[in-house]
Amino acid sequence: MKYCPHCGAEIADDVRFCPTCGKETVITVPVSTDPQFDAQDIADNRMLAMLGYLTCGILPMLGARNSAYAMHHTNQALWIFIGSLLCGLVCIIPILGWLVAAIGSLFLLVCEIIGIVRALKGSGAYLPFVKGLPTIIK
Ligand SMILES: [Zn+2]
Repeated sequence: MKYCPHCGAEIADDVRFCPTCGKETVITVPVSTDPQFDAQDIADNRMLAMLGYLTCGILPMLGARNSAYAMHHTNQALWIFIGSLLCGLVCIIPILGWLVAAIGSLFLLVCEIIGIVRALKGSGAYLPFVKGLPTIIK
């Protein structure tokens, strides 16, 4: 037996709508779309996950290849790396390209700092531009 969260009436466990007040008995908690990781995985690998941002993902790929948490951050570090390559590429266009590269590099630098802080905090939240991009490394 459980109780309706709206009117408090006693209801059967498998009932989705309360027979007394007609409201839904299952309160749906909004689920975060960001990936969740094992606490042990985070504890073991957050240092390598963080260092991935400083080494284009090389250190975590060598040291924590089996860690879903480290690979999540490595993936983001690789996208930042690709972004900085693109910034370098647009530099061949005078003035406009330099401007784009300067803004892009600044943006990537901010993303990198956010990534480092999140990697250490144990957060698997996506960086603003990485969400929706393909996963490079799993
Ligand atoms: Zn009810």
